[in-house]
Amino acid sequence: MPTTSFTYAWCFDHGRLHAFPAGDEPWCSVAWVPLAAATEEQAVEAKQAAYGDARFLHDLPEDKQLKVVEIR
Ligand SMILES: [Zn+2]
Repeated sequence: MPTTSFTYAWCFDHGRLHAFPAGDEPWCSVAWVPLAAATEEQAVEAKQAAYGDARFLHDLPEDKQLKVVEIR
C-alpha cells in the first residue's frame, strides 16, 4: 500500500489539527498554520511548543494572532 504523506497544520478557526494530503489543495481555508512534522504526534508537539495550549485565535496574544493572519 502506498503511504500518503501529509502536511500537518494547526487550525485556529476549528481549534484542532488538520492533516492535508501532500499535493492536494488544503480543504480548510481559514486560520491554520503549517507545522514541521512527519507524524500527527510530532505535529501536536510542534504546535504545543510554538503556541502552548491555545486552541483558537482568540486564545493567542495579539502579536501571535497577527502572525497567524500573515502566514495565511
Ligand atoms: Zn480549519
